[in-house]
Amino acid sequence: MNQISLVPTPVKFFYTLTIYSAILLKKGGIAIEIHHFGVSISMMDIFYARIPHDHPQKTFIEAQMNNMKIGHRGEAKLLRFLEEVNFKQSPLVIRNFLTRVHQKRIIQIDYLLVTRKYLLIIEVKNIAGHIQFNSNPPQMIRTLEGRPSQAMECPFVQLDRNLDGFIASLPDSKLPIYTSLVWANSSTTFDLPFEAPHLFLTLKKVPLMIQELEKLPDLLSNKQFNALKKKIVQKAQSFQEQSFCDRYQINPLDLRKGLYCVECYQLLTKSMRTWICTNCKLNATQFVDVNVLSLFSIQNSQLTITDIRNHLPELQSRQVRKVLDSYGYISKGNTKSKRYFKPMEWEEHQ
Ligand SMILES: [Zn+2]
Repeated sequence: MNQISLVPTPVKFFYTLTIYSAILLKKGGIAIEIHHFGVSISMMDIFYARIPHDHPQKTFIEAQMNNMKIGHRGEAKLLRFLEEVNFKQSPLVIRNFLTRVHQKRIIQIDYLLVTRKYLLIIEVKNIAGHIQFNSNPPQMIRTLEGRPSQAMECPFVQLDRNLDGFIASLPDSKLPIYTSLVWANSSTTFDLPFEAPHLFLTLKKVPLMIQELEKLPDLLSNKQFNALKKKIVQKAQSFQEQSFCDRYQINPLDLRKGLYCVECYQLLTKSMRTWICTNCKLNATQFVDVNVLSLFSIQNSQLTITDIRNHLPELQSRQVRKVLDSYGYISKGNTKSKRYFKPMEWEEHQ
């Protein structure tokens, strides 16, 4: 087979996370209302692969995607420590709060806590190695043994920007806003030659920090608190309902056609009845599904078979339909213009 030795494709999460979900965690009689606004990393990978190399948004999307990948595991760890907190009243916790501040500006907050007393914006980092913080220019330089040093965006600047963007998108909030950088990797060593401009904590300290905030006075009535919660959840939801193209201002007509590798972003090629990535040297047949399904996130939540085949001309209608059916996609309309859409609640698949 073209002198390519095929290795089995690694098992991937297609639906890493649900579109959104509200879970209630019970802790000592107080429920924590958690909304998790996630995105499937594999779908983001396909979106990235489809954007032409010279597109002005390509680097921005790459940065966002890498951020998501590094942050994901650390963010999950934080949740466990939030459960330790003895909240006075049920808070609203939003994980991965994304909103558009204005046409050209999106903010992404790892965790947002909304209470009657305060708002808390948490940025979670889960990076190993040695971290050197520099103030001018603001950067963090990560060193891992045996590898070249790597400059990364300063998380304090990210927090500055998130705070500024959040205030701009919610100007009439009466609550004080606190910010914190939480480091989720316990093996990391630091060199911080200046005073941290935001509260800088390890995971274990998070419950204690929030416990202190819980001592603050209530500033909102029940009615005001519920109105605020509703407003914030709606902001996050309306962003999530937008397609990736709308969010990142990409014209769907500019997207590259074809099937792409989730690992290396190269075009897949067909060899006999198998899809392969010649770059990764792997059997990529299972990437066909995510290439089809991701279009519902990338372009539009409702698509016809023709819409899908415009992006994936190598696939036959029958193959597309088979993928949609096997993932429980629902269709409506007449045979010719039948539109498919995804089921409301997506289960986590592995
Ligand atoms: Zn590949």
